[in-house]
Amino acid sequence: MANVKNTAKTFKLNTGDLIPAVGLGTWQSAPGEVGTAVEAALATGYRHIDTAFAYGNEKEVGDGIKASGVPREDIWLTTKLDNPWHKRVAEAIDRSLENLSTSYVDLYLMHWPCSSDPDDMSRVFDDWDYVDTWREMQKLVGTGKVKNIGVSNFGIKHLERLLNDPSCKIVPAVNQIELHPSNPSPKLVAYNTSKGIHSSAYSPLGSSNSPFYTNDTILSIAKSKDRTPQQVLLVWGLQKGWSVLPKSVTKSRIEANWNLDGWSLTEEELAKIDAIPDRFKVCGDDWIPIKVFFGDDE
Ligand code: NAP
Repeated sequence: MANVKNTAKTFKLNTGDLIPAVGLGTWQSAPGEVGTAVEAALATGYRHIDTAFAYGNEKEVGDGIKASGVPREDIWLTTKLDNPWHKRVAEAIDRSLENLSTSYVDLYLMHWPCSSDPDDMSRVFDDWDYVDTWREMQKLVGTGKVKNIGVSNFGIKHLERLLNDPSCKIVPAVNQIELHPSNPSPKLVAYNTSKGIHSSAYSPLGSSNSPFYTNDTILSIAKSKDRTPQQVLLVWGLQKGWSVLPKSVTKSRIEANWNLDGWSLTEEELAKIDAIPDRFKVCGDDWIPIKVFFGDDE
């Protein structure tokens, strides 16, 4: 498999657009470090950056893109609508575009199916939820401000309700969800696929203090292939059919996480990783006013 070119891989969305399979994550990449991380990633060859209004770093992500010298049109840029902005979608995208110093994003995601009341973040609106928000997001298509719209942290129940609502005219292009060997969500991924929705993996390395770096299965496969555990986790995700968004603010790690070409995992290695029995989730829903997760695969 010496000719495998994982870093050049793209996935075709239901709009026909091609999303680069590997993107730099920027959650918890603080101002002061995220700009140089974005610059380092673009210099390394990454052409996909994932940010969000809620990360508070859009401005510096935009600065990093500018400083890199890579033309904007060569970069896939994703940002996300924050929960307290669900009734103000038109205003929210303008804010994000201004922060990012760009006239458009390639992908605009509803960050959570949770319409928090900005006047009281402990509650959601009585008269509005994610179906209403999607109706507003659809209005952005054709404005030139967003090339694709999608969702994040949506389970099957959310998607079923959304897709069955008469106001839903556009099927989300992407559902960005937590995906790693301890939260592989096969039912949700299969549901996404059945509806033409691309699954994108957040926390593909298991996030901060990842337990995978001491996992015997991951370590033994990494050792036998002379690869890092992170590279094994990323290639596993790519071979499962989803895009991966590894985050790092460390130049050497950003570079190492891009070193994915010329090798792949065998069916047997994939099966061993699939069989890792431990389950954990990085992102819960205890910090938002409603429950959005109903089990690790719904
Ligand atoms: P992740 O990418 O799974 O892991 C990031 C952690 O791994 C950081 O602590 C990073 O450290 C470390 N790391 C990265 N490469 C490494 C390497 N080669 N060796 C050792 N350690 C390494 O976690 P994540 O940030 O949770 O998820 C990735 C991205 O998905 C986010 O940044 C964000 O863009 C997106 N996301 C979206 C949502 C959502 O609700 N839609 C939720 C979570 C995440 P350093 O940075 O210190 O190098």
